[in-house]
Amino acid sequence: MPFSTLGLRPELLKALKPQDYPAPTPIQTLAIPAVLQGIDVQASAQTGSGKTAAYVLPLLELIMRLPRTAPRRVHSLVLVPTRELAVQVGDTLRSLAVHLPALKITVVFGGVSVNPQMMGLRGSADVVVATPGRLLDLVDKNALSLSAVQTLVLDEADKLLDLGFQDELQAILKLLPARRQNLLFSATFPPAVQSLADALLTDPLRVDVLPQIGTAPDIAQRAISVEAPQRTQLLRHLFQSQGWKRVLVFAATQHACQIIAAKLRKAGINAEPFHGQLGQGKRSQVLADFKASRLKVVIATDVAARGLDISELPVVVNFDLPRSAVDYTHRIGRTGRAGHSGLAVSFVSPDTEAHWRLIEKRQNISVPREIEAGFEPQTVSNPAHPQPKSLLHPQGTAHDPRGGIKGKRPNKKDKLRMAQQPSGQ
Ligand code: AMP
Repeated sequence: MPFSTLGLRPELLKALKPQDYPAPTPIQTLAIPAVLQGIDVQASAQTGSGKTAAYVLPLLELIMRLPRTAPRRVHSLVLVPTRELAVQVGDTLRSLAVHLPALKITVVFGGVSVNPQMMGLRGSADVVVATPGRLLDLVDKNALSLSAVQTLVLDEADKLLDLGFQDELQAILKLLPARRQNLLFSATFPPAVQSLADALLTDPLRVDVLPQIGTAPDIAQRAISVEAPQRTQLLRHLFQSQGWKRVLVFAATQHACQIIAAKLRKAGINAEPFHGQLGQGKRSQVLADFKASRLKVVIATDVAARGLDISELPVVVNFDLPRSAVDYTHRIGRTGRAGHSGLAVSFVSPDTEAHWRLIEKRQNISVPREIEAGFEPQTVSNPAHPQPKSLLHPQGTAHDPRGGIKGKRPNKKDKLRMAQQPSGQ
C-alpha cells in the first residue's frame, strides 16, 4: 500500500523522499489512518520500525486541517524521556514539514539555558516537543500555555508512565484539556505500566506490530562469559580483533562510563562517555562525533537506550547487563536498524549469570555462552549451558557461514577466511 492512500496531503507526500521512505512500514499503515480519525492509539512496534513518522505525519496533517488561529496556540505536544530523542523527533518533524507553509515547531529540553527556549516560544508554536521537567519549568515561567492542546503524544510511553516521570507527567496532564487525543508509542509496554496507559486512553485502537519474517531487525545476539574485572580488556580485545568500526557500550553507572572510556582512550581507542551528568553541549558533541564516525566507541548509561537512531551502528555491547528484559530490548534496538544487520554482545560474569538467565527467560531466547580465548572465567557458574570456545564475528549468526556455527570452534581455515573479509560493517 503506498503512502498516497493514507490520507496525507501532497506537501507531506512530497517530503517523503522515496530513497528514505519507499513505502509505509506496518506501524505507519495501521497508525496513520487511526490518528487522522482523531481517536486514541496505543502502538507497540519494535525499535526502528518507523514509529516516529507514524505519528509525525498524521500530526502534521491534522494541524494543517485546522483553521489558522491568531494568536497561534500549541495544538500538539510530544513528550519524550530524553533530550536526544527530543532533538531527533524535532528533526523528523522539520524534515517532514519542509513543504508545509509557516508551521512553528519548537523543541525544549533540560540541561541547557532556559532563556533561548523562552524566546523561541514567543508567539507560541504549533507543535512542541519536550522533556517533561523543562516543559513544566517553561509553563511556570508563563512561556507557554497548554490549554489548547488537541493531541498529546507520549513517545517511549512506558518510560514516561514509569515511576521516574510519574509526578511530572501527572502535573502536565492537569494542564491539558480533558478532551484531547492521546497517542502512546513504544516498543514495550510492560504489564506494570499498562494500567496507567489504560487510565490515560479513551477507547483506544491498539496497534501491535509483531516482528515479521524478513522485516524484523536482523540482530545476532551473543553472550560471552567473562570475569567482571576482565571486561574492559575483553572489550578492547574484541574491538581490535573484530575490526569493529562503531560500538555503543552500555554500562550501569555514570562512573563506570567514565572509567571504561578513560581506559580505552589510554589504549589508543577513541572513546567517550555519554550519560546524564554531562552538560548538554558535551552530550550533543559526543553524539554528533559518533554519528559522523569521528568517535569509535561510546560508553553510555541507559539514557542512550531509548529511541536514538544512529544509522549503521553495527555493534552494541552490554558491558553491564541491563536491569530488565525491557531495557535489553531497547538497548539492542540501537543496532540492526533500517534494514542493516546488527550484533548485540552481552558480557556475563559469574555473579550476573542468574540475572542473564532471567533476561533470557523474559525475552524467550537462549543464547549459548561463549568464551573468548585468553578471557576464560575462573568460575564455571552455569553447567546447564555448554561453553564452547568460539571467535566472534560482527556479522556472525548461528547460521552465518562467515561467522562460524554456534558452538563450533573455528579452525585455521575459518580464521583465514575471517581475516580476509572486510572488517566491521
Ligand atoms: P523510528 O522507528 O521512528 O526510530 O525509525 C527508524 C528509522 O526508520 C529512521 O531512520 C527512519 O528514517 C526510518 N523510516 C521511517 N519510516 C520509514 C519507511 N516508511 N521506510 C523506510 N524507512 C523508514
